[in-house]
This record gives sequence, structure tokens and C-alpha cells, in this order.
Amino acid sequence: MSESAPAIFEERKDQIARVGEGSFALACNRDSLAGAVSQRACVFCGSRVVLYPIADALHLVHGPIGCAAYTWDIRGALSSGPELHRLSFSTDLQELDVIFGGEKKLAASLDELIPVHRPKAAFVYSTCIVGLIGDDLAAVCKAASERHGIPVIPVQSEGFKGNKREGYLAACKAMATLVGTGGIVGIPKISVNILGDFNLAGETWIIKDYFERLGIAVVAGVTGDGRVDDLRRAHGAGLNLVQCSGATMDLAKIMQEKYGTPFLKVSWIGIEDVAESLYAVAGHFKDLDPTLPARTAELVREELAALMPRLKELRRDLEGRKAAVYVGGAFKAFSLIKAFRHLGMQVAIVGSQTGTEEDYRELAAICDPGTIVVDDANPLELSAFLKEKDVDVFVGGVKERPIAHKLGVGFCDHNHERKIALEGFVGMLNFAREIHASVMSPVWRFVPRREKREERP
Ligand code: SF4
Repeated sequence: MSESAPAIFEERKDQIARVGEGSFALACNRDSLAGAVSQRACVFCGSRVVLYPIADALHLVHGPIGCAAYTWDIRGALSSGPELHRLSFSTDLQELDVIFGGEKKLAASLDELIPVHRPKAAFVYSTCIVGLIGDDLAAVCKAASERHGIPVIPVQSEGFKGNKREGYLAACKAMATLVGTGGIVGIPKISVNILGDFNLAGETWIIKDYFERLGIAVVAGVTGDGRVDDLRRAHGAGLNLVQCSGATMDLAKIMQEKYGTPFLKVSWIGIEDVAESLYAVAGHFKDLDPTLPARTAELVREELAALMPRLKELRRDLEGRKAAVYVGGAFKAFSLIKAFRHLGMQVAIVGSQTGTEEDYRELAAICDPGTIVVDDANPLELSAFLKEKDVDVFVGGVKERPIAHKLGVGFCDHNHERKIALEGFVGMLNFAREIHASVMSPVWRFVPRREKREERP
């Protein structure tokens, strides 16, 4: 750390690095430091993020009402059909349940909810207190499943049992119990499952449209615009496409082992990454359809011809500006660094909640010297880094927005509260427009931090 760097908790120092200052090393994938107020969510939230876009399932949070605060309204995944996932259910455990156990209340909740909402399946999330009092979630779910004739799936996501990645694993294990239980007759060989996209603002539909144009069938959105029956037959797809590898890679690995389904890591953000992902899919199926690579190249050409001139216009104002990126999964950070380069902007701070050692090494390799790389940050650190680097815009999620606005920094929500799709080629244009609108807003001239700074020519 340089002399001018802010004070950082001693225990956090090895989770922060600056590119170009000695050999790069970053500690990560460890439990958050108690008291540091991590930006990261708990294990339960990790599971909830992955599973709740499954739109025809019932999602029941077994725990105190506070755990259920993370609702569709915070991260609104879109559905083209049923919208049961928009409702949040909780067993609302109280003191007496904690003393005498919550199993009866859970069984009663399932008995009340399933006949009313007729879900295709129910996911029951375990929370901290359930882990502490030792309710037998699996037994209650099994009995409810037999009573109601639908899969009632326990999600072992006790908040305290690790970090958010544990929640991803619990979600993947829960989904894996559905995969393989449906018929796969009629699924063509050239077919994919879209993993790790959550269709927050219609992104899954953009990617699906590319595949439709290329004649590639999409079997299941995992979990964007997700359906229980699609998951049941997902093992019939020829290929799994894994974006946000932290969240859904475990399911891809389970499916590879159990059903031999190969997977590719992809990203649907930016320009190069979207094109490379489409080319990789075309390459995978080229023996089955030798015309696919050429048709994919044509699609990419068409999209870029529409996109590039418009990006060029926006870039004129943005050239030389600085950005900070703090996101859940590291894949997004990679793609955003590249996306900002297309806008002539430099990413001066980059971090994620759940990156791995390999992710951070690769991130550092594409960052400019001096870039701060941070794992599992907290508001204190992020505020200090934003001030130090004097960035023009911060890209993050719902918890990062107030940090940016309090400091008088433009903000782009790339996660929770977003209503405009930021994936695919059209998503790159939407992203560029949003960054342009935030950075160029005249309001930033009047924040105290900027008033002291010399006006740009
Ligand atoms: S599961 Fe635990 S850590 Fe997560 S929201 Fe509930 S009480 Fe908080």
C-alpha cells in the first residue's frame, strides 16, 4: 500500500492489491471479517439470488421475517409467463419457535401455500436460526412433497455457514435434484442451457434471440426466466453455457459428471466477450452444423455495424474519464473493464464479492498499473478508494449506490435495481448511454468534492 492510501483493517490488507506494485497476490474466498460490514451477502442470500428467478416455483424462506427482506423488489428478475417468484413467503419464526422448533410451522406453511399457489416445485431456504435450532428441513420437505405431489426441495443455506459462494453451491445442489427428472425426447443436439444469467431486465431474451437467429435451441434458462419443467429436462441440452461461474458452475460440473453435458464459460457483457462467447458456441457445434461459424460471424457483423458508430459518438465525451467497478461475480468485472476501454475510460478500482485467486490474477493482468484490486470490500474501503482515485462513475449494485451518491460520484447499477438490459450488443449500447448520462450530468459540478477540482476543458 502506498503512503497516501487510507487506513485499512490489518486483517484485510492481504485482500487488497495495487497492480504493478510488486508481484500480484490477493487473498480471497474466505469468510468476511466480523465487524467490517462486508458488502457481501450471506449464504442464504447467495442461494436466493440464484434460485428465485425460477418463476413457477414457490420460494419459502424458513426463518425470521428479516431474512426474507431480500425480495423480488430488490432484484427483479423478469418472467415471460408465471410470476409466482415475485411473491415472498416466510415462516416468520418467533421466539417460541426458536425455543420449541419451527418444523410444525414450516409444514403448516407449505400446506397452506401449495394448494393456493399450485407451484411446480417449492424451494425452502434454511436461514441462520434454523441451522442453530436444528430443524430437520429435509424431513419436513420430504413429507410435504409426498403430501402434495410436487418436489419440495430443501436449500441448505444457513447464513452463517460460510460466504456467499456456499449459497451458490446450496442452490446448485437444490437444482440438481430437479435436473434429470423430465423427458428429453425432441430436444435437438444443437441446443444449450443458459446458466448464470438471471434476466433482471430481459437479458436472457437478448441472448435467446441470438440463438434463435442461429438455429440453436435453448432448453433452460438457469435461472433467468426459469421454469421447473425446463430444469427437469436440462440434461437433454447439448451444451451448458456458464456465465457468472461462481453462481452456477457447480451445477455445470454436476451435470457434466452425471450426464456428460459439456460446458463453456461465457460472458454476455461487452463487445469482445459477447462475440467470443457466440463464436465459442458455434465452434462447439461446428461438426454438427458446418455453416454455423459463418452464420455467427454474419450475426456479429450485423450487430457491430449498428453498434459501433453510436458508441463512437458517446466515446467522444467519455475519453479519459475514470471508473470504479465493484460487483458480485468476477466475470462481470473482466467484461466491464473491456467495455470501459471501448468508451475510452480507465477502470481505476475493481473488486468483487466472490472472486477466486485465478479470477484476480487474470483481472490484474488486464488492469492498468496502479489499479486497486479488492476482494470482499466494505463501505469504508470503497469510499476511501473512490476518493483517492477521484473516479467519474462507480458501477455496482444496490448496496454500492449510496456510497457513490454520498461522495458525489455518478453511479450505474449493473445488478439489482436495473430496468434496462446491459447484456448482448444492444446491452453495450444501453450501458454506454447510461454511463454517458451519469458522467456528463451537470449535477456533479456542484458536489463539494468537484467544486474544488479544476473544470475539465
Ligand atoms: S440467514 Fe442469517 S445472515 Fe442471512 S439474512 Fe438471515 S439472519 Fe442474516
